[in-house]
Amino acid sequence: MTTTEPIIDGEDAIRRALLDAELPPLLAALAIATGDPALLPDHLRPSTVNRLVPQGGYSVAQQEEARSLALATLIAMRDGRLPARRASNGVLDTVRFLAGADADRYLPLLMDELAAPDDPAAPGWRKDDLAPERPFHVVIIGAGMSGLLAAYRLGQAGVPYTIVEKNGDVGGTWLENSYPGCRVDVSSHLYNYSFFEHDGWPLYFSTQNVLLDYFRQFADRSGIPEHIRFGTEVLAAEFDDGTCTWTIRVRTPDGDTELLGAQAVISAVGQLNRPSYPRIGGRDDFTGPSFHSARWDHGIDLTGKRVAVIGTGASAFQFVPEIARTVGSMVIFQRTAPWLGPTPEYHAPVSDGLRWLFRHVPGYAQWYRFWLFSSSVEGGLPTVYVDPAWPRSERSVSAPNDERRALLTSYLEHLFAGHPDLLRAAIPDYPPGAKRMLRDNGVWAAALKQDNVELVTDPISRITERGVATAEREYEADVIVYATGFTASDFLVPMTVTGRDGADLHKRWTGDARAYLGMTVPGFPNLFLMYGPNTNIVVNGSIIFFSECEAHYILECLRSLLHDGHRALECREDVHDAYNEMIDAANRQRAWGVSTVNSWYKNALGRVAQNWPFTLMEYWERTRTADLDDYHLL
Ligand code: NAP
Repeated sequence: MTTTEPIIDGEDAIRRALLDAELPPLLAALAIATGDPALLPDHLRPSTVNRLVPQGGYSVAQQEEARSLALATLIAMRDGRLPARRASNGVLDTVRFLAGADADRYLPLLMDELAAPDDPAAPGWRKDDLAPERPFHVVIIGAGMSGLLAAYRLGQAGVPYTIVEKNGDVGGTWLENSYPGCRVDVSSHLYNYSFFEHDGWPLYFSTQNVLLDYFRQFADRSGIPEHIRFGTEVLAAEFDDGTCTWTIRVRTPDGDTELLGAQAVISAVGQLNRPSYPRIGGRDDFTGPSFHSARWDHGIDLTGKRVAVIGTGASAFQFVPEIARTVGSMVIFQRTAPWLGPTPEYHAPVSDGLRWLFRHVPGYAQWYRFWLFSSSVEGGLPTVYVDPAWPRSERSVSAPNDERRALLTSYLEHLFAGHPDLLRAAIPDYPPGAKRMLRDNGVWAAALKQDNVELVTDPISRITERGVATAEREYEADVIVYATGFTASDFLVPMTVTGRDGADLHKRWTGDARAYLGMTVPGFPNLFLMYGPNTNIVVNGSIIFFSECEAHYILECLRSLLHDGHRALECREDVHDAYNEMIDAANRQRAWGVSTVNSWYKNALGRVAQNWPFTLMEYWERTRTADLDDYHLL
């Protein structure tokens, strides 16, 4: 939690700090701190038409006025000259000032977001009060971002739990992905638990080491590690119909098999966990070293080497610019070009002015987060809705989508000016939003333009002893890096999961994983999935928000079991099916649903099994309470 320091700086220093301010949330924070509604004049209401524009769409004159108002207030605060607290209209009006007409609907959700370091979403119950004598133990699979959160919530409710973690440390994806340049592409101030603030993010977009450190600190401070079985892998989980309990078979660090018992199981294994290697002939023929980006081999020095990189997704996009200057040469094999979203501050440290404001303006860090959050409740969703009247093509899916395409194309034209071949290869042939858009500050284009870097768009025909071959020629390489993504559709693979009446989860799914709210599956009582099917977001928000919704909902389910004395709950098939029909229908109306481009958002059957097609608000509303009518109670 950022503690507020008294202002002792001179006017010039304050003026300099204000140059770095995000102004609408600063006015909001100052209005609340001073109780002065004059800091929120109507003509400085930010735009709610387009929430993604900088400074809420303020003109230069509006920005100057906002800075003047803030300067006068900060100097008055410093000098102890604040007038007596005036009758402010309070938080609701401040939220309305920032979020516009939607504020009233969003308010409950946004108040949760604004509450840090308080934790309104904490379970308001303890097992000891509901069912003190009842044995109830939960096994959580995975100690990444979601698993740690589930553990924290269970701890708050006094429900005993064990985390089984295959790695030797917490962190999940932020432990495993250590490739050069690895960082998150969601704002740091959003990519954290709502109730556990960082005491000063160093970067606008955190690097892997910063995030790993954050999750380690969270786990340590919450006393979670003592509940973790590290180096232990879940092989199978089996439900016993008679006792309504789960038996989890694990492989211990010694290679032994051990059985753990549990009344409920929470899978928190993530979607982007198991590396996907391309099905290209000859992979074993290559005589040099090769590795996957998510299993970066830091023992191999790439300096001066000829490196072949396969893939141009989010991972390659980050490590290619990092290694381009030290490798001897690099050939990058691109099958599908990514759209690039201009983000000048992508690699930047949080500016000194903004840090100063976080330290000196009470509540500014929270209002800043709220501001980022309110703009991402819907984010870019409206630009990926399919307009049924719009001519169907791989160019765009609607007028707003086409406008976005035009803007993003002109950005690419700017980046690759004077390089017509690279520009041709860089312009995607699918609608914006059909695949993950990548944040960019120009370093990717700069790397591709280097003399020692070559972009190849011809299809790979095979891997050879010496390198990578297309139909035209062979590209010799000393090292091959597979930046080919993850087997995201294979949820809960390679575990065997056996539910009621001996049902096998993978047979049920046959490669097409589905769940109710992404969390519960008919036939599998008291099994809960986090970041399960259809809970990935593409253009809005942070995945941590989803995990918080899921943890809240799971705890609600457990509370009901403990309170009402039922042994287990099992999702009703009709509820599950109706829900999935709704999800599928909506995904078919999104850019990622109609485009035929390759993407990890679709499974082998072509169904979008990953993505949530609606707003964050809709998921939050659906996960506030567990409606027991959706379940069979055992
Ligand atoms: P990815 O987006 O799935 O990209 C894999 C790349 O490998 C694509 O360019 C793909 O081409 C290519 N590829 C796969 N098989 C191929 C083959 N047989 N021949 C040629 N090319 C092949 O994987 P990723 O880059 O690891 O990213 C996965 C997800 O992880 C991201 O979408 C994101 O959600 C997350 N991530 C986030 C960050 C971040 O926060 N900044 C960083 C890394 C990853 P096609 O496009 O044609 O399939």
